[in-house]
Amino acid sequence: MPIKIKCRKCGFILYTYDMFSDPQGLAMPIQVVDSYILCPRCGRELDANVKPDDIVIKPLILEPGRYTIYVYTNQTGAGYAVVVTMQRRKYRRGKAVKVIVKEKTLFSEISNYIRDLVKKKGIDSLPKEIVF
Ligand SMILES: [Zn+2]
Repeated sequence: MPIKIKCRKCGFILYTYDMFSDPQGLAMPIQVVDSYILCPRCGRELDANVKPDDIVIKPLILEPGRYTIYVYTNQTGAGYAVVVTMQRRKYRRGKAVKVIVKEKTLFSEISNYIRDLVKKKGIDSLPKEIVF
């Protein structure tokens, strides 16, 4: 689900973050504000005091088409994690899977499906292509 931080005055989207496609890329709100100082659209002075109203969460929906989705496994303090993302990450070992989306689908449904497959049979058993 992408998280968006918007200008409180005019609603301009200052920052979008998708925790599924970029689980380690979250900038802190103060960094977002630091990178702008003034809203590029209305000129309002920004402060680091991000309120819940500034944050918009929307599910990521994939339109019909072909996608490459990357699957990584990761040992964490809590155990075994499966990361499903739309962005290639260079520093981890993983697998690319072609996903054909036939009708509008929530990315979270696809990532949950892939996670279940990996947890049951391991990452090496993933098919090269999945039709959704
Ligand atoms: Zn603004």
